[in-house]
Amino acid sequence: MGITKSSARADTLCMNTVAVGVFSLTLLTGAVIVGAVAIGLAAPLYALVYLAVAALLVGTVIAVFCTKCPLRGEKCLHVLPGRLAALLPARQGKYTAVEIAVVVVALLLILAIPQYWLLSQVPLFALFWVLAGTGVFLINRRVCPVCGNRCCPLRPKE
Ligand code: SF4
Repeated sequence: MGITKSSARADTLCMNTVAVGVFSLTLLTGAVIVGAVAIGLAAPLYALVYLAVAALLVGTVIAVFCTKCPLRGEKCLHVLPGRLAALLPARQGKYTAVEIAVVVVALLLILAIPQYWLLSQVPLFALFWVLAGTGVFLINRRVCPVCGNRCCPLRPKE
């Protein structure tokens, strides 16, 4: 009975973490869309280019980072990246410095590219950073501490 109760509690905790994982990813996607809107108001074609580049960069992160994650596939706490990573060959081992650098640069580029256009549109600038900041905060506080990817450099030290 005790085991059943504790395993039910673990299931609930996992479901809550997945809900936060999906919600935080949705907020980050919202930030990218707000960035695209800001670009699109000035240059619609550039907005499409930004969305395509962001999709390519997200794909790079999935190929470089998620394919080494033990949660790729059904167990991914953000759902979609893990499912997409499962379509690629699984990889093993710790992340190399180059892999970490590629992931950091890819994520920073997604955030940085729309800033030029956002800076001249204060409400969209504020919305972008509220969405992106809340998404990153939730991942850092609610997802990273219970994530099973022991090789992740963002994982809190045990
Ligand atoms: S939990 Fe693993 S598979 Fe899911 S997004 Fe994070 S690194 Fe990628």
